[in-house]
Amino acid sequence: MVAPIEDLCEKRGMRMTDQRRIIARVLSGSDDHPDVEEVYRRAAAKDSNISIATVYRTVRLFEEAGILERHEFGDGRARYEQVPETHHDHLINIQTREVIEFSDREIEELQRLIAQRLGFRLVGHRLELYCVPADAPKQKA
Ligand SMILES: [Zn+2]
Repeated sequence: MVAPIEDLCEKRGMRMTDQRRIIARVLSGSDDHPDVEEVYRRAAAKDSNISIATVYRTVRLFEEAGILERHEFGDGRARYEQVPETHHDHLINIQTREVIEFSDREIEELQRLIAQRLGFRLVGHRLELYCVPADAPKQKA
């Protein structure tokens, strides 16, 4: 279990306003990689005084503190998730924008080997698979 974002913020000595707490709780409770607008919708449902500008600032703050990870899954929108305890990669259903998390030991090993072969030591990677459902009709290229 990853610690809630609120706790991580307090550990880092960040000043936590009520609005920041709400945004932190929304983010901790979201496992679907929401974009800022979605975080805003969820936070505003709890406190209608929260502005989208506050959500932008807070998300950026959490990102800079290394609490949130930013993704762009091919549609130009920044999406966020709490930095996970263990690494995972993402599969994106481009029809529904659903994001599925996975990890695969062979892929991890292969990436390490590729780096090694090229004279490097792998320290991180991002892997995103853009997909349509297997039974979706094929589109012309
Ligand atoms: Zn993820």
